[in-house]
Amino acid sequence: MLIDKQTNFDQEKLSFNEIDEGFTTKEAIAEAKRCLNCPKPLCRAGCPIENEIPGFILALAKGNIGEASTIIARRSNLPAVCGRVCPHDKQCEGSCILTKKNSGIRIGKLERFIADFDAEMGIDRPNRVPAVHGRVAVIGSGPAGLTVAGDLAKLGFEVIIFESQEEPGGVLMYGIPEFRLGKEIVRREIKRIEDLGVTIQTGVLVGSDFTIDELFKKGFDAIFIGTGTVLPKIINIPGNDLIGVIQATYLLRMVVLILSEKIDKKEIPINSHDRVVVIGAGNVGMDAARTAVRLGASKVTVVYRRTINEMTASQSEYEAAKAEGVEFKWLASPIAIVGTDEVTGLKYEVQAINEHGKLYGTGKIEVILADKIISAIGQRPAARIVSTTQGIEVDNNGYVVTRERPYGMTTRKGVFAGGDVVHEPATVVLAMKEAKKLAVGMAQYVEAKKLLENC
Ligand code: FAD
Repeated sequence: MLIDKQTNFDQEKLSFNEIDEGFTTKEAIAEAKRCLNCPKPLCRAGCPIENEIPGFILALAKGNIGEASTIIARRSNLPAVCGRVCPHDKQCEGSCILTKKNSGIRIGKLERFIADFDAEMGIDRPNRVPAVHGRVAVIGSGPAGLTVAGDLAKLGFEVIIFESQEEPGGVLMYGIPEFRLGKEIVRREIKRIEDLGVTIQTGVLVGSDFTIDELFKKGFDAIFIGTGTVLPKIINIPGNDLIGVIQATYLLRMVVLILSEKIDKKEIPINSHDRVVVIGAGNVGMDAARTAVRLGASKVTVVYRRTINEMTASQSEYEAAKAEGVEFKWLASPIAIVGTDEVTGLKYEVQAINEHGKLYGTGKIEVILADKIISAIGQRPAARIVSTTQGIEVDNNGYVVTRERPYGMTTRKGVFAGGDVVHEPATVVLAMKEAKKLAVGMAQYVEAKKLLENC
């Protein structure tokens, strides 16, 4: 193994290219044939969007990849994405009966294989449904917005997505790194949603370029807000404004822009051989840590105030980070970022757990040396839309309040919301699950509205 003299990492091997290789056709069919086709499929119950898993696996086992793809498309607009980034171990694969015998079906990899095969071969082209039922505006093109848009287009609505970034996709495009989710895959899935008849306008910041009220004046029957949690939570400790403190989501976005040659390499906020400390052990923290490794950091340490058992990152992300050389400091609660103008380290208090399982500070203070501190302690929603629109209630933390009937409608009539902007940052598939219910709620709302207008 070739180890760079100055670093702990095998940087030659660690590029930004997608790591996990998919199944070959032979492997995929062999894997599909192992499925027991349970009469009560637990895998489907374990999938938040109730993908017809046994159905697509059976079709694949028979070698009918087109049918497998059609079955998946009935529930999901983003199969190649879900096949790569869903926490399968906690969902479908975790529920598979064979998992108890340590030989669970690799459902995520099968879904990914079918989606990739279909995209390469172009075997299942979605049918466009005439847009006759009404006009819907979708704000934000993350998994929530894309799902609402795709499902409403399939139901016969004209859908226009307004997205502030240069490219659609939300976190799929600007958050999850290339080595876990190739951007060409995201572009490909979005193209399929456009093929359903959805129009996407990028570079439009709703709440600034125009308001929700102006959208209604343009003749939209209903509006969906799927704007996610775009603002990072700022760590409230001394030194948080020193040079060298970087927000994880900012770093991840910069790397996407550099890889797609939209900005110059020298804009990257991490230098080769920097000692990097990441605060936070969620998926965002793991992605930032693994990105820092790829940028040439000499040492990357994730600091977390609780134990490994409370870490919110998925086990597979944690293991991948460890395998790449990332170190972990558990029970370390940051109390100050050290430095005069620039970061030189992170001061933390060592934590312990008492006999009742409660965390407490031991009073022991330690410092870990660092040139860069990446803060990955969470995100929160921006207020740009709600502050420019009357009647949309938010909770104390800025999350949009919605109701059950019609599902997902805010306190403003005709305005719906879903995805991370409604709940705490969650997962792609949970944003999709909610969005699917929302699309139905929006369709019902528009139908009722038109009925009343016609009376
Ligand atoms: P987003 O994906 O955040 O999309 C919101 C979109 O709205 C953005 O494109 C934004 O530009 C746009 N927008 C915001 N304001 C406006 C406005 N005023 N006008 C126009 N457009 C606007 N989940 C998993 O399941 N697996 C993972 O491995 C995983 N890894 C993650 C890694 C990172 C780094 C991050 C940040 C999240 C990760 N997640 C993961 C979580 C998952 O990506 C989110 O839960 C999901 O993207 C939420 O979808 P969304 O559509 O609600 O919001």
